[in-house]
Amino acid sequence: MQAPSIGGVQIPRGNGAMIRLPRGASLADFADKISANPASLVQVVFTQLGEMVTATQSCPEETLQLLGTELGWEVRIVTPEEEDAELLARFDLEFDAEEEDETTLVVRPPVVTVMGHVDHGKTKLLDAIRSTDVVRGEAGGITQQIGAYQVRTEVDGTERTITFVDTPGHEAFTAMRARGAQVTDIVILVVAADDGVMPQTIEALNHAQAAHVPIVVAVNKVDKEDANPAKVRQQLTEFGLVAEEYGGDTMFVDVSAKARLGLDALLEAVVLTADASLDLRANAGRHAEGVAIEAHLDRGRGPVATVLIQRGTLHVSDSIVAGEAFGRVRAMLDEKGKPVTEAGPSRPVQVLGFTSVPGAGDNLLVVPEDRVARQIAEQRQARERYAELAKSRGRMTLEDVLERIKQGELNELNLILKGDGSGSVEALEDALVQIDVGEEGEVGLRIIGRGVGAVTENDINLAKASDAVVIGFNVRPEGKARELAEREKVDVRYYSVIYQAIDEVEAALKGMLKPEYEEVQLGTAEVREVFRVPRIGNVAGSLVRSGSIVRNSKARLIRDGAVVADNLTVDSLRRFKDDVREVLEGYECGIGLGSFNDIKVDDVVETFELREKPRS
Ligand code: GDP
Repeated sequence: MQAPSIGGVQIPRGNGAMIRLPRGASLADFADKISANPASLVQVVFTQLGEMVTATQSCPEETLQLLGTELGWEVRIVTPEEEDAELLARFDLEFDAEEEDETTLVVRPPVVTVMGHVDHGKTKLLDAIRSTDVVRGEAGGITQQIGAYQVRTEVDGTERTITFVDTPGHEAFTAMRARGAQVTDIVILVVAADDGVMPQTIEALNHAQAAHVPIVVAVNKVDKEDANPAKVRQQLTEFGLVAEEYGGDTMFVDVSAKARLGLDALLEAVVLTADASLDLRANAGRHAEGVAIEAHLDRGRGPVATVLIQRGTLHVSDSIVAGEAFGRVRAMLDEKGKPVTEAGPSRPVQVLGFTSVPGAGDNLLVVPEDRVARQIAEQRQARERYAELAKSRGRMTLEDVLERIKQGELNELNLILKGDGSGSVEALEDALVQIDVGEEGEVGLRIIGRGVGAVTENDINLAKASDAVVIGFNVRPEGKARELAEREKVDVRYYSVIYQAIDEVEAALKGMLKPEYEEVQLGTAEVREVFRVPRIGNVAGSLVRSGSIVRNSKARLIRDGAVVADNLTVDSLRRFKDDVREVLEGYECGIGLGSFNDIKVDDVVETFELREKPRS
């Protein structure tokens, strides 16, 4: 076969030789590896693969692979972990060479995530378990909510510890798994005995099974009259979960999170399942490695991350890096808010001392020096930027673009996500990008910004600049952001339930719906007298004729049946000398319409609001 030759420049062929490229590499990176001219690769990609990519743009993995195949090179995309390993090797930090023989391993507690259908009692169950330390019999022992906690229980006369991840639901579980962080050893699948197996029960079960994580079924709400725990067992056999009492190997425990029944039995089942099917041991003696399961910015304490230690022991003053964040452990707190100086395998601790907020699912690593932590973090930041670029650009070929523009089909929904924690933002992002938008090419979804914390003016500006919608999950707008959004007509939507956000975005994607508004009349008032108030202007002394007049509502003025002014606002509203928010039908009040002064006796003030019309 002829080597492709562009403009007389030969591109070296690999004949199957391997080159290693980081995720999100550009054609220039590729060219560098094979000593070719980057421009020639751009041409090959265009002519052979039909994609338009510049030399320095980062490429999707598929493009790099296809180009490799085209030129006879085997392209190996180096995973972030491998890249890290290379990075560490460069710093002479070959941790993994550390001995991990039988003698260094200690038993570690199982890490449990609670999943199940909405309203089946996941949160209640986690709360019930959290507030009961079974061994100590303490109630209300754990006060802080740090994203995970440990409880002790007695099994066969031995005290055993279990770690619970406190963010229920499979979105978080899956988002972390997608980042290669599997923290969960056992899933407790909560099924309400009065409701039985529901769609998210099955989803949760699929996620757990896909991750090869053993399941313990908590049949909840057995205190209810219409509870039918036997039916739950029977329903789940269809999904391969057969109760022990029916000859299977899944433990089902009847519980009531509300009445606190069966909690010890549930904890025991977790321990027994762990003992039976898992070998949970880790080296506690080495430098710590773990996963950030939750992180947020605390006003007073700066970035705060809950880290679940997986191997080794984390100490105060260790230099650490987690994802793109780095720092040095300034303090560690347990779930009771008590400072701890070290944390071993399966232990969740809140870590203070990061210089920025890590992402949920980011791996935490201890390195010997702050300098190294910073360098690794910087490398990762650069890599992430590449990957983002590759992701946001998608894989649209030039033909596609032209075709779609011609058809007037090119349509994209840009989103900016803000949430109360990195876990929720990632879970949301993950779920959103998976939305099936039906016919290929109908509408695309692009997440152009994400972050932890309130919706800021910055977010609004970004949204404005790129016609994006802002989604706030469990957060509110900061200071002037709300006004700015109103002024700039930026759509900001707030949610506190992930499903709701997803449903709405999906609906929007399916039709790219613009909200429709309808006017709803709030009230009318008849002007009886006009007062001149110094520095304020004319105020309409009125009698409310229908409905009510509400301060700040929109208003128009009607004279002899004709609208004389629209677009007014009830700027001030008074009863006698008092400012009031609302005046009801039959009462008198003073209405100020801002700088609008042309008010006459017998005019009618009509107030209304615009309500979003529900779609059918
Ligand atoms: P989640 O959506 O799975 O986290 O469900 P929640 O924990 O929020 O519980 C949903 C509803 O079920 C709440 O009103 C709980 O009080 C109620 N609930 C939870 N567990 C029990 C239980 O064991 N018995 C009864 N009767 N109600 C429960």
